[in-house]
Amino acid sequence: MSVFSVEDVSYSYGSRKALDHVSIELGAGRFCALLGPNGAGKSTLFNLLTRLFVTSEGRIRIAGHDIAREPRQALARLGVVFQQPTLDLDMSVERNLAYFAGLQGLSGKQARMRSAAALERLGMAERAREKVRALNGGHRRRMEIARALIHEPAVLLLDEPTVGLDAPSRAAITDHVHDLADSGLLVFWATHLVDEIREEDEVVVLNKGRVLAQETAGQLAGSG
Ligand code: ADP
Ligand code: ADP
Repeated sequence: MSVFSVEDVSYSYGSRKALDHVSIELGAGRFCALLGPNGAGKSTLFNLLTRLFVTSEGRIRIAGHDIAREPRQALARLGVVFQQPTLDLDMSVERNLAYFAGLQGLSGKQARMRSAAALERLGMAERAREKVRALNGGHRRRMEIARALIHEPAVLLLDEPTVGLDAPSRAAITDHVHDLADSGLLVFWATHLVDEIREEDEVVVLNKGRVLAQETAGQLAGSG
């Protein structure tokens, strides 16, 4: 069963078509990379998936919920890591997570348990009490990924999460996020860096608003 589906979605800015009949279908426990050059439509697609934009052309479903008809239920199953960090640098890691958990309606006790579990999954447990300001860029990103898991989403959306990081930090993040996919989450990861993608990963190639291919990285490489 698909956990995530984009069915025949189009979007235009005035007369400029940014997405042209895009369809993507993904199941649980997948790592899917969204690849495409500048202007391909990646940001537009992310803005539709997070409901910053709306379109009446086509349908988007997250964990079975139509984002236009049941936006609250659909977005409740989505965890998002935006390209621009959104952290309070002067709060500790755990307070940042607790704050977000509060916004999601979790009680204090639940928030603490979920925060601890999420930080553990990203290898960040021992950093919980540090101020965000004291963390390097890679650890800040891992904290943001942990935060995106607090409400136990089915789908994790990441918009070029490793931009500006050094190679070891990028490798740690791609490893952790692949582990999340292996444990049953659906990961949708926008990037233009092919070294973040593994042979068994799904790849959606977007160009000029159209899906050129959806197959595993291994198949894509094989077909030249
Ligand atoms: P990507 O994220 O892959 O770089 P975008 O989704 O930002 O692609 O852009 C897709 C297309 O839509 C491009 O041709 C871009 O110039 C155009 N576009 C994006 N945002 C706007 C906007 N606000 N107004 C007009 N055209 C836009
Ligand atoms: P990204 O690579 O993250 O998509 P862009 O540089 O393509 O970033 O776009 C940055 C911002 O400018 C986005 O909010 C996008 O919607 C807007 N934008 C992109 N292309 C155009 C355009 N042709 N006209 C107006 N706004 C645009």
